[in-house]
Amino acid sequence: MTSKKTRVPRMLRGSLVTLRRRCGKPGCHCADGAQRHEAPALSYSERGRTRVIMLAESDVAAVAAALERYRSAKAELESAASTGLAALAAQVADARADRRRAR
Ligand SMILES: [Zn+2]
Repeated sequence: MTSKKTRVPRMLRGSLVTLRRRCGKPGCHCADGAQRHEAPALSYSERGRTRVIMLAESDVAAVAAALERYRSAKAELESAASTGLAALAAQVADARADRRRAR
């Protein structure tokens, strides 16, 4: 394991998952498959493929915060775009009504 500290980015997309896996050491309690190692990870999709980044336990809270930042920024963006669509639709309908009146 690297001892270099992770600088978790401000914004991330995906979801936190817990991986249960075998470490591969023959004498380990996980070898028979009954009791596997649990490790936190970030699962995300890229071009239709699911990818996983293993996380240090100490980074989980920062990753969760970055995911939440993304969720709320995305919700804000979606809402702004919906407001824009409604405004555009109203203007187009108004312009059509004006043209009809002018005829
Ligand atoms: Zn093991």
